[in-house]
Amino acid sequence: MILVSRLRVFCGVALLTSAAAQTAADPIHEARVREVVTWLAADERGGRDSPSAGQAAAAQWLGEQFQAAGLQQVYDNSWLHGYTLPGVRLDSTAIQFKITRHEGDQTPSATLTPDQDVRLLRPADATEGQAEGATVVPVGDPRALDLLMSPGGRRPIVVEVATDHPLWQKAAGVHEQLGGRRAAARPVFLVREGVLPAGKEFERASWTIDWSAPKPAATEVALQNVVGMLRGASRPDEWVVVTAHYDHIGMVAPVKGDAIANGADDDASGTTAVVLLAEALAKGPKLARSVAFVCFSAEEKGLRGSRAFAQNPPFPLDRIVANVNIEMIGRPEEGKRHKAWITGAELSDFATMAGTAMGRAGVGLVEFKMARQLFGASDNLSFAREGVVAHSISAGSLHSDYHQPSDEVDKLDLEHMTTIIRALREFVRELADGEARPAYNDAGKEAIEKLKRRG
Ligand SMILES: [Zn+2]
Repeated sequence: MILVSRLRVFCGVALLTSAAAQTAADPIHEARVREVVTWLAADERGGRDSPSAGQAAAAQWLGEQFQAAGLQQVYDNSWLHGYTLPGVRLDSTAIQFKITRHEGDQTPSATLTPDQDVRLLRPADATEGQAEGATVVPVGDPRALDLLMSPGGRRPIVVEVATDHPLWQKAAGVHEQLGGRRAAARPVFLVREGVLPAGKEFERASWTIDWSAPKPAATEVALQNVVGMLRGASRPDEWVVVTAHYDHIGMVAPVKGDAIANGADDDASGTTAVVLLAEALAKGPKLARSVAFVCFSAEEKGLRGSRAFAQNPPFPLDRIVANVNIEMIGRPEEGKRHKAWITGAELSDFATMAGTAMGRAGVGLVEFKMARQLFGASDNLSFAREGVVAHSISAGSLHSDYHQPSDEVDKLDLEHMTTIIRALREFVRELADGEARPAYNDAGKEAIEKLKRRG
């Protein structure tokens, strides 16, 4: 007993004072897991929406981690696979905006300086208007983000925000967003805190806005996947593709004043696994097959980053032995620590191979009630649709913090995550070093044919 507790104290001290000492023992260790997932899920990343400054910074940083790990680039002189999606370009510097407050017989008004005091967050069908009874709310108001999520109706929405708010930064100057004019029934303006004409009671006031804004310009929004590889020693033209999505959903309705959906579990946890697997496998003995490590963007926008990759792959898809996609491994269900589950497990022998390999590192596979349904809910689908054996491995639950600002690092079980990543290393190693190649069974082939027909 004493020995165990002494050992624990010793390990705790080692963790705090010498991450390097642990690295020598095993490059996959909890301090490094914490470091990577904390960086990705920090408020500074703004929820890693596609596109956003926070996501671009994350792409850059992930490339640097691949570089430091000793991976090779798949593309010429770049860790990034660029692709585009249709969107619009908005210009906050070119709007005109006058707002009048009606409160009793008082009607103070203000003409706001574009970009400095007022910004355009969402385009409108019209390019100008005078609106009486516009909705004006502070960003902390529960109605604010609801309105932003459902921009139907005619009257403009005006949201008052602080200048350090990610939405304010997102709407700066000339900026781009995905989609386009389908969500464009009415404009959404942001105004800087402190510039609205003053009055007594915000709630009782009504507002008139005279505004104009240039027509949103259709554009192709540039996005990036992050890609690195380890070249195989004896079968370099066969590939194991290890993936996770590094994007998340950006801003959502605020909970207790926090509107940043950090996506610590979804899917900074999986992205962290990709980084640590790259670091560990690069340090280990050379593998027979090549391994590609890919972090996708725009998963949350309909699996668009993985689709762009699979439709224009850097190596033939029929040379991919398997796609191991990693999703949400940081929040085990009760009683399921050190357990993992696989989407669409019954469709191929991927899960059997995973079970054997991961079992060597003390991780068992379990059933998950939505596992079949979730086969089509992550980036593995983009590969499966092309006939590649592709599944998502998860080691968590669809918890109540899913897609909420509360999906934060402090809710992750980092010890569990570390164990899962070590087990994933066993599986990826086996795929890359063994002769075997997982295959779809009849049910799997049927499911893939269905996916192909659906397009
Ligand atoms: Zn996800």
